Amino acid sequence: MGLFSLNKPKIKVQTSKKDSFSGWIKCSGCSEMIHANELQQNLSCCPKCNYHYRLTGLQRIDLLADEKSFIERYAEFKPTDSLEFSDVEPYAERLKKAQKNTGRDEAIIVGTCKIEGKEVAIGVMDFSFMGGSMGSVVGERLTAIIEYAIKHHLPLVIVSASGGARMQESILSLMQMAKTSGALARLDKSGLPYISILTNPTTGGVTASFATLGDIILAEPDALIGFAGPRVVEQTTGEKLPEKAQKSEFLLEKGMIDCIINRHDLKKKLSLILSLLTENEREYEHPKEKLKKLLSLVEEEKVVSK
Ligand SMILES: [Zn+2]
Repeated sequence: MGLFSLNKPKIKVQTSKKDSFSGWIKCSGCSEMIHANELQQNLSCCPKCNYHYRLTGLQRIDLLADEKSFIERYAEFKPTDSLEFSDVEPYAERLKKAQKNTGRDEAIIVGTCKIEGKEVAIGVMDFSFMGGSMGSVVGERLTAIIEYAIKHHLPLVIVSASGGARMQESILSLMQMAKTSGALARLDKSGLPYISILTNPTTGGVTASFATLGDIILAEPDALIGFAGPRVVEQTTGEKLPEKAQKSEFLLEKGMIDCIINRHDLKKKLSLILSLLTENEREYEHPKEKLKKLLSLVEEEKVVSK
């Protein structure tokens, strides 16, 4: 799980009229008072400062997939505690709690859907489930959907949100880095495009494997993206990191990501990218060759936060 503390979004939603919660929250981005309903209507972005709050996996699918087009696949792979691991509490208990709290069985949902009519294979991580940590089942579901994409000749989209590898699964979680990377290499050989979308936060073993292997790497504004936390980097290198060194805007400037896209435009632009990459299939161009052409098109509409 996460190696460092992350700003937890302070979203509370009023569940009943009797609830004492007034519906007003203090924004994590600008400290202004905003109403939860207003936030919800604005795709969980602050109406005042555009701070992008986290979405659950299902909210993300709602945002990107055409209505009723999503079909969940590989849900039969369920997490188990094969190491019988226990720290302050047994892993099996942690899993049960996370399942009860989120209503989901793992930190990822994979399947197929349509994005403005274009069929894709998709994987969406859910930070609310154990910090979006990558255990064996996260790796296995991802690998299975990548193989499905190859078999059915579909482009792949993965939305990451993760604190890194799941430490309760020890080496089994770290092995998922190699497994997913291997599957993506086979996808690349098949000439199919992979678009990776990084959201706040994307860190650890997820950043160090599939999240940064996209032919095109997009990010939401102001997202924390990195491998180790800033304190660990500073202790290891003995150097002070520049301010905002692990934010999407800095990484765009340094060329680690290709484009920052505001959540309100994400579906539209993703659809545009998919059209450009998959149109005219007979004269297939490798995604990397198309990248330049495409980015100049997306560029003029590039939206950066604030
Ligand atoms: Zn705000």
